[in-house]
Amino acid sequence: MENKDQLRQIALRCSQFRNQEGNINTLRSESNVLGETTKSCELCNHFVNHRCELNLIDEISSNIDVKLD
Ligand code: SF4
Repeated sequence: MENKDQLRQIALRCSQFRNQEGNINTLRSESNVLGETTKSCELCNHFVNHRCELNLIDEISSNIDVKLD
């Protein structure tokens, strides 16, 4: 199971990231005061039952060398 930091790293690199519909807080928190994007798979419309329905997590994480222990 990926931790929250890993899910953020993955979402930042994912071209398929979609904000969950109707989540106004998510839309407003796209960037923090440092200008960093606060994306995460947890905030993505494709994240269903703690998994990416597009099966992109493994592919992206292997590209960015994130350990998925
Ligand atoms: S859940 Fe899937 S589609 Fe969404 S940001 Fe993560 S890897 Fe990308």
